[in-house]
Amino acid sequence: MFSPAEIQVISQAVEIAEDVTANHFKISTDQWKHVRYDIRTLAELSPDEIADYAFAQITRYSGKPYLSRQRHYDYFKICLQDQNIMAAVERDERVKLLPLCVYVVTHELIHIVRFCKFLQSFDAEPPERQREEMRVHEITQKVLGSLKLPHLDYVLQVYRDYQFMEQLKDHSAPANA
Ligand SMILES: [Zn+2]
Repeated sequence: MFSPAEIQVISQAVEIAEDVTANHFKISTDQWKHVRYDIRTLAELSPDEIADYAFAQITRYSGKPYLSRQRHYDYFKICLQDQNIMAAVERDERVKLLPLCVYVVTHELIHIVRFCKFLQSFDAEPPERQREEMRVHEITQKVLGSLKLPHLDYVLQVYRDYQFMEQLKDHSAPANA
């Protein structure tokens, strides 16, 4: 599990990732509030939010308003996998925690923005999901390419086409349930 000092680094990474992603998609601070997601680390995950290999799991929940007539909405939880992120840092000393987490969180936020803008379906079949993964990798490179952050270049190079960025899991109830 991340130590308190590492959690500080993660929260710095989240701040950077949110900024660069919102800028890339030209999403204002106001509009960004309508992108419904949360980011959690291992300490706050339930057993089925834990992934074996991936850096993250995106879990989709569906919110169903109780009294209002608003339609149900999707809500995404980016479940960071402390154990797999730390293993990557320990495996290769040139991989530093801050740039790696900026990379992972930016990649996951790009997925979520694309789900929310209906540019991609969460329920896509594997071949399409694979194509989307390549697109998101490409966008991640573009979004982070000009960011000045020590040791980010190395992460961008090593994880360019990484196959275990995240797994997706659906926890949303059927719309009419
Ligand atoms: Zn991905």
